[in-house]
Amino acid sequence: TNTPISVVGLGLMGTALARAFLKAGHPTTVWNRTAAKADSLVAEGARLAPAIGDALGGVTIVCLTDYSAVRALLGDARLDGTTLVNLTSGDSAQARETAAWAEKQGARYLDGAIMAIPSSIGTDEAVILLSGPAPDFDLGTLGTVSHLGEDPGLASLYDVAGLTMMWSVLNAWLQGTAMLKTAGVDAATYAPFARQIAAGVADWLPGYAEQIDQGSFPAEVSALETDARAMAHMVEESEALGVNAELPKLIKAMADRAIAAGHGGEQYPVLIREFERPGE
Ligand code: NDP
Repeated sequence: TNTPISVVGLGLMGTALARAFLKAGHPTTVWNRTAAKADSLVAEGARLAPAIGDALGGVTIVCLTDYSAVRALLGDARLDGTTLVNLTSGDSAQARETAAWAEKQGARYLDGAIMAIPSSIGTDEAVILLSGPAPDFDLGTLGTVSHLGEDPGLASLYDVAGLTMMWSVLNAWLQGTAMLKTAGVDAATYAPFARQIAAGVADWLPGYAEQIDQGSFPAEVSALETDARAMAHMVEESEALGVNAELPKLIKAMADRAIAAGHGGEQYPVLIREFERPGE
């Protein structure tokens, strides 16, 4: 646990990362463009790198606003001997480009994504995704760390996949809440029921994933055309109640397209075909 670590970028997140390393007893070097942001960490025992170059050469965590800030900061610095762990948020193409650039500069490059807020860093709740070469150091002190594979774009892809899940579940819940409020049911009353539905649906994922991976969608539970009839109720009810019907209509439109393409007798995950191509 005593690997010396450098943290470059002491914004809200970088400061939380550096503090977690300090707390866990790592010799911690810090650097920030605006040097004053390092003051409290230095008071807690961090070493201030006088120049960015002094924060390179070992395991260096970078957490800046975006990838262009990372490239602007590191310029054409030689990175021999540096394991660069870039925890800046971005997309998979940026991650792969930055990996190729960093390796050319001599670094071992891992790309990462943080699915957590600063105050949760250092607890199991903080999910940290890594991709690139297998790490030869332990970042477990930051949270629950998963190494997803060699492709440096994977951390960003899992990150956006996770965000899609999060916002889709929240929007579905808000839709139902808006519908129920028209009948005087408050959000807190519906929430436990919604939670139970969401958890039940989550249990279907492994079986449905198997169908997708096998490319075969027998209707074991219900056929898509049966689902589509329930979707029509969802749309009509939303319209009749005067609540927003955009999400119900989108859900139904995608199922209708799959049915028009001849998949009405198959099971729901056959809709992967609609998700695999650009929409309308
Ligand atoms: P902040 O805005 O608090 O910090 C941004 C940091 O980037 C500062 O240290 C800033 O330096 C530095 N920076 C920006 N441009 C440059 C540059 N050109 N050269 C050198 N340094 C630069 O952002 P956060 O700490 O909140 O976020 C950092 C990353 O972490 C982002 O990619 C964000 O998406 C990600 N993240 C943040 C979460 C959060 O809840 N905060 C959650 C999950 C991910 P200076 O102080 O000098 O301005």
